[in-house]
Amino acid sequence: MVGYFVEKVIIVGSGCAGLTAAIYAARANLSPLVLEGRQPGGQLSTTTLVENFPGFPDGIDGPQLIINMHKQAEKFGARFSYAEVTEFDASNEHVRIKADDEWLETEALIIASGASARYLNLENEEKLIGHGLTSCATCDGAFYKNVPVCVIGGGDSAAEESLFLTRFASKVYLIHRRDRMRASHIMQERVFANKKIEPIWNTVVTKYIPDEKGEMRAVMLRNVQTGEERELSVACVFVAIGHDPNTKAYRGKLETDPDGYLLSQRLVESKHPGVFIAGDVSDRVYKQAVTAAGTGCAAAIEAERYLAEREK
Ligand code: NAP
Repeated sequence: MVGYFVEKVIIVGSGCAGLTAAIYAARANLSPLVLEGRQPGGQLSTTTLVENFPGFPDGIDGPQLIINMHKQAEKFGARFSYAEVTEFDASNEHVRIKADDEWLETEALIIASGASARYLNLENEEKLIGHGLTSCATCDGAFYKNVPVCVIGGGDSAAEESLFLTRFASKVYLIHRRDRMRASHIMQERVFANKKIEPIWNTVVTKYIPDEKGEMRAVMLRNVQTGEERELSVACVFVAIGHDPNTKAYRGKLETDPDGYLLSQRLVESKHPGVFIAGDVSDRVYKQAVTAAGTGCAAAIEAERYLAEREK
C-alpha cells in the first residue's frame, strides 16, 4: 500500500466502470491507483456468458472480460490494491479516503464501487450464506448436482441464473412475487422453453429451513394472492432480486437518492470538485456492462480535464 503522498487519481472499484476509467486514466499518464474492494472484478466476475457487450459476436465470459480489462489497464500503468474504502472526507483541498485503515489523499477520485447483491432479510440469512444460500450461480451452481434448487426473482439475473443452473440441478424452481417476469424477451423465451425450469408465480419465500447440520433443506413459500403456505424442498436458494449501491462511505457527504444511489450532474460529476462517479453506483436505470464502461470512460476524461485545469 502507498504511504503518505498525494495521488493524482484514485479509482474506487474494479468492475467494468472502474477498469475502463483505469484504462483511460492510465493512457493519460496519470498512473491511477485502483482500489479493488471486496469483490474484485465487480458483478461481471460472477456472471457467465455476456452476449451483449459490443465487439464479441460469440459472447465472452464475464470473468474473462474483466481479466482482459485488468490487463489492458495494467499495461498502461494502472496500479492495483485490494483495499476497501470505508470513509471519505472532502473538506480539504485534497480528497481523503480511508482504505483498509489507512488514509490516502488524492487530487481526483473516481467512485466506481458498483452495487452488491441484495438478500431477503429473513431469519438465519447470514448463517446460511455459503450453506445453501447464495447470490452467485456461477460460483456455487456446480455444488448442487442432481438436486432441486430455486432461484428468487423475475429479472434478467434470475433468468440467467436459472438457465445456468439447469446444467447441474435436477430441477430449478423460479420463484417470483408477480405473475410475469421483467427479464428481457429473449431471456424469458429461453426460460420458458427449458423443461427443467418450473416458474412459481405470485409467490414469496417467507422462511429458510435448514437441516440439523445447518445446510439449506427447504423454503417456506407463501402465495401472495391466496395466502396459502407450503414447504418446498431445495438444496440451495439462489437470490437474484437486484442490487444495492455500495455507497456507505459517502452517505451524508455526497448527494444520494433515497436508495443510496449517488447523484451525478453532467453524467459523472459529483457536487464536490475532483470527485467523479461512474457505473452502477449511480445507475438505477440501465445497469449494463457497456453503460458502466461508458461512464467509466467519461469520468476518467473529466478527471484528466480537472487535473489539467488545476495545473494551469
Ligand atoms: P432487476 O432487473 O432489478 O430484477 C430484480 C427482480 O427481483 C425483479 O423481478 C423484482 O421483482 C424482484 N425483487 C426485487 N426485490 C424483491 C424482494 N424483496 N422479494 C422478491 N423479489 C424481489 O435486477 P437484475 O435481474 O439483477 O438485473 C439488473 C440489471 O442488469 C437489469 O438492467 C438487467 O437487464 C441487467 N442484466 C442483464 C443480463 C443480460 O442481458 N443477460 C443479465 C443480468 C442482468 P419485480 O419484477 O416485481 O419488481
